Amino acid sequence: MERLLVRLPNWLGDLLMSRPLLHALRNAHPGCAIAGVGPAALLELIAADRVIDHAIPWPAGGPERRAALREIRSFAPEAALVLPPSFSSALLAWRSGARERIGFGGEARSALLTRALERPPRGETHLSREYLALGEPLGARPAPVPALEPPPLAAARAEQSLERAGVRGGKLALLGPGARYGPAKRWDPERFAAVARALIGRDFRVLVCGAMDERDECEAVARAAGEGATSLAGTTDLATQAALCGRAALALCNDSGLAHLAAAIGTPTVTIFGSTSSAWTAPLGPRVRLIQRSPVCSPCFQRTCRIGYRCLTAVEAASVLRACLEVAA
Ligand code: SF4
Repeated sequence: MERLLVRLPNWLGDLLMSRPLLHALRNAHPGCAIAGVGPAALLELIAADRVIDHAIPWPAGGPERRAALREIRSFAPEAALVLPPSFSSALLAWRSGARERIGFGGEARSALLTRALERPPRGETHLSREYLALGEPLGARPAPVPALEPPPLAAARAEQSLERAGVRGGKLALLGPGARYGPAKRWDPERFAAVARALIGRDFRVLVCGAMDERDECEAVARAAGEGATSLAGTTDLATQAALCGRAALALCNDSGLAHLAAAIGTPTVTIFGSTSSAWTAPLGPRVRLIQRSPVCSPCFQRTCRIGYRCLTAVEAASVLRACLEVAA
């Protein structure tokens, strides 16, 4: 095989859980040109991992998308792997002209694939293993996955960001109190602030991180944590955030893209799970601690809860602090 197309996941966490597959493919086909198609913001990150040779941004629509499709067709892949379970992703593989098209089966889209794999029930198998199964027909076998390198130049941007925030030296702890999925993944911000205060008391400088639309929440946590905590939410791009993770001695996050990013970089990472399953989507990395309290209703995979978020309220600040100190030790 000389040219392989991979339709990458659209979410940061899913993308990072596809790294074992991407490294396995690179290992199995060292001379093969691999093109990765996905959201532009994620491609910079995965290109630095040196597992793809061509990064093709996949825009939301319009003339840019037609241009991307032309680029994919001129790449002329022999095979295409489709990681997202959507119909449109399978259609992209079909339109690419690849003779072999492998993805998860699903209503309507199986006809577009030459191999439609059945997925295990949600939560039974880690998502990275589900992705690896897609590569097996192409000879991909599990291979070592190194720590993710932040993209070049991101380190300088991270330093500028720290300087703007008035952070000079010291141990950094990153807090990620957001989770786009919904409230059923978000631990109590006041408990985040309580852990932050305890970390500041142990000489950590706390950076509260998140996306632009999580800014209010992050600023509230930083304010409640007091002196020694700063919110950087909405001020950094993904590459800079990756470099900040590389500078941190600890990351404490909800089950979110930031948790996956910190874990992949190799930062000691504590992740709090709510309604979802740590067996399915635990962040991958050498120093990861998971916290999941599982009432009988767990995992329900709901975005909101009608019975009081017991899976999250059962997580005490004291046990989270203990996990943070242990993993960072
Ligand atoms: S139903 Fe149970 S697992 Fe789901 S969000 Fe509510 S408490 Fe958590």
